[in-house]
Amino acid sequence: MILSVASGKGGTGKTLIATSLAFALSEKNKVQLLDCDVEEPNADIFIHSHITQSYPVFIPIPKVDETKCTYCGKCAEVCAYNAIAVVNKKVLIFPELCHGCGACSYLCPESAITEEGQEIGVVEKGNSGNIELIQGRLTIGQLMAPPIIREVKKHIDSRNEVIIDVSPGTSCPVVEAIKGSDFCLLVTEPTPFGLNDLSLAVEVVRELGIPCGVVINRAGVGDGKIEPYCSEQRLPILLRIPLDRKIATLYSKGVPLIEGMPEWRNAFFKLFQDIEEIVSVNQAAK
Ligand code: SF4
Ligand code: SF4
Repeated sequence: MILSVASGKGGTGKTLIATSLAFALSEKNKVQLLDCDVEEPNADIFIHSHITQSYPVFIPIPKVDETKCTYCGKCAEVCAYNAIAVVNKKVLIFPELCHGCGACSYLCPESAITEEGQEIGVVEKGNSGNIELIQGRLTIGQLMAPPIIREVKKHIDSRNEVIIDVSPGTSCPVVEAIKGSDFCLLVTEPTPFGLNDLSLAVEVVRELGIPCGVVINRAGVGDGKIEPYCSEQRLPILLRIPLDRKIATLYSKGVPLIEGMPEWRNAFFKLFQDIEEIVSVNQAAK
């Protein structure tokens, strides 16, 4: 199963849930944990893997041969990201905006555009027991997270249980990380911000046609509006984790929840079983 763990907002404890699930499942199966929060990959703080492989990720950036260019402006017209402009007989390229889609070089009538690779980050692989960690890391100053996420996801081996730690929010990197999942677990907290961002995340996940459920972290505090929202939206609440000083201390020290508090082990087994059930009912209904 490919299970993504997302949250509409940062700081909800998404990585704590993703890593706890990975540790619980790794007792019986081989698990791949994909850290697709490439701007700030931090699953390894809990996993303590031994990184054995690292390689760069490039995107193709256009390069113009001005001896062939007629300054027709076609390349600027087709670029959906405003990464290329033609001004006063000069072609300007803004590499930080370029998505490397290749449209400009494909459509240049003079074949004046070639492409050169620009490094935007790295993919790293490591192991910790039965867990294989694959993490993407975007170079500081680079903006193009999706190509790195795609590269991380190329390593998915569907014979394993796969857990994807998704970046917070609802933008392109989130969609790139979640798409193709069998289920998406949305981690939230019972505050007005938590509810607002959860509802946005639910819209995105439903638009992608992926079944989802909710984990409420720091349950028992806040304004009590999350639970009515979930029941109104028919969103199963699959786990509640209370606000607990010991959990917060473990989190701040990078100790996995089920290692520091083994009494949570069964709760994570049960969480996964419930997800499997929802996925199989969903697949049967298709
Ligand atoms: S499309 Fe080609 S020829 Fe036209 S301005 Fe761009 S690089 Fe120059
Ligand atoms: S490769 Fe795509 S995104 Fe980059 S400048 Fe060309 S058209 Fe724009």
